[in-house]
Amino acid sequence: MNLDQIAVLGCGTMGAGIAQVALAAGYAVTLYDVSAPALGRARERIAAGLSKQGHASALERLELASALEQISGAALVIEAAPEQIDLKRELFATAGAICPAPAVLASNTSSLPIAALAAAAPDPQRVAGLHFFNPVHRMALVEVVRAPATDEATVAVLMAFVGRLGKTAVLARDTPGFVVNRVARPYYGEALRVLGEGAATPEAIDAALEQAGGFPLGPFALMDLIGIDVNLAVTRSIYEQSFGEPRFRPHPIQQQMVLAGNLGRKSGRGFYAYGGQVVGGGDRGSAKNNAVAVAPPPNPQPPTPSSVLISSGSWAPGLAELCAGAGLAVAEELPYTADPSLRGAFVAAGRAESAADQLMILDRQLPADTPIFAQCADTCACDLAALLLHPERLIGFDGLFTQAAITLVATPVLSGAAREQADALVRGLGRAPIWVADAPALIVPRVVAMLANEAAFALGEGVADAGTIDTALRLGANHPAGPLARAAELGYDKIVTLLDHLHAEYGEERYRVAPALRRAARVGRM
Ligand code: NAD
Repeated sequence: MNLDQIAVLGCGTMGAGIAQVALAAGYAVTLYDVSAPALGRARERIAAGLSKQGHASALERLELASALEQISGAALVIEAAPEQIDLKRELFATAGAICPAPAVLASNTSSLPIAALAAAAPDPQRVAGLHFFNPVHRMALVEVVRAPATDEATVAVLMAFVGRLGKTAVLARDTPGFVVNRVARPYYGEALRVLGEGAATPEAIDAALEQAGGFPLGPFALMDLIGIDVNLAVTRSIYEQSFGEPRFRPHPIQQQMVLAGNLGRKSGRGFYAYGGQVVGGGDRGSAKNNAVAVAPPPNPQPPTPSSVLISSGSWAPGLAELCAGAGLAVAEELPYTADPSLRGAFVAAGRAESAADQLMILDRQLPADTPIFAQCADTCACDLAALLLHPERLIGFDGLFTQAAITLVATPVLSGAAREQADALVRGLGRAPIWVADAPALIVPRVVAMLANEAAFALGEGVADAGTIDTALRLGANHPAGPLARAAELGYDKIVTLLDHLHAEYGEERYRVAPALRRAARVGRM
């Protein structure tokens, strides 16, 4: 058996991509498909891809196969056929017989249990998952999935193969969604919930996660890119395989979009309309609902009156520096006399830091038309407004002040004047205000907390270790930081506070805290 000889079954998007990167890495590849026209198209795509990569001559090592027997002699068989369990099981049974031990058989399935494929093969111990991401030549991560019967030698062959491709392999247990598809679910699921509650538009949610959360692409733009039908199928599969775990429950909006044929970019319309426009930034499209729209980009102007009051509290690191940098005088205590230059007061304390008390004192002492901003990640803006004599001047906020945008919460009683003053103040700080309605944990804190929670559940269930989970999300989903590293940076206790707030507001099991995360919050270490 030639160790440099591999076979790929199925020459679609993924099979052709896998064949291309394997050829570029020096392997000889037999590419099998039931469709002769598909094989012809795949060869052209691979040839073009290899030329672009500067490996045009590697095409000589590609053999196209229309009979499965032609794969005999392969040391590694990678199946990338359609996501149908019976079809894949048949391929594993036949390919396993054509390529006897010690050949390794791997599946690129996104959602099917590897154990079910292994059980169909003659030797389940030499079967594992090998989950590439799309587009294969650009994505650096590959998940190696160990089923209960998979032996060490098989894992070692696959880890070495991925290394030779120049990619990063992460080892995961055979559980629904493996690491990336599972731990990334809240990125879509929570965004859909916020939209479904009418708290913000897709544009506002995407802007918040991109500009205030640091994610490269907002969840709605990303679902449009992936295909809303594909995203729904993955969610549904993980939900069903976990016997209805509420954290994975698909959202009716996804189903409605699919039934309407609005699948995203590929159908010209999804959460955004495409219609041949250049996609990106504000030009993504025109989807709107009745919620608060995203604000236009910031328009920094030197502030006219010149001071702000910032209370003590752990929720706004960077706020004082930001204000000072924008030329505002920053006071930390209430002025003894009315200060005509005061443009607003920020209460940056959390619920457990007596934010409510600080707020009530400010409300009673500041002139009635001075806007008061209250941190709203772990408490609802309406709960705070209810404490005030002048609730119409309360604006909720959330923001890591190192980012380009600040999320502002408009309660139903917010006055037009306070809204205008808040908008101008935030723009004066050089930040884009993103207005949303009151919703528990808002957008970025909610998504970040739920990603960390899912990662902690996966960790607790032994799906992968913490470093692996973080690497997988960074490389497989392009998240700016791993969910557990981000939780450590923000503070596990803060994340738990956010989740408890969500749990209390919704009363849903979906928001229960992962035991591993609660333990980490107690001792400050995961
Ligand atoms: P695809 O539809 O683009 O390609 C599937 C190919 O399999 C087609 O060329 C088809 O002719 C061929 N085929 C059909 N029956 C076959 C058979 N019996 N034997 C061999 N080939 C057969 O699909 P895809 O997007 O490349 O997905 C393939 C696999 O990769 C699926 O398991 C999918 O879940 C997984 N995957 C897809 C993505 C993605 O983004 N597309 C990402 C990761 C994993």
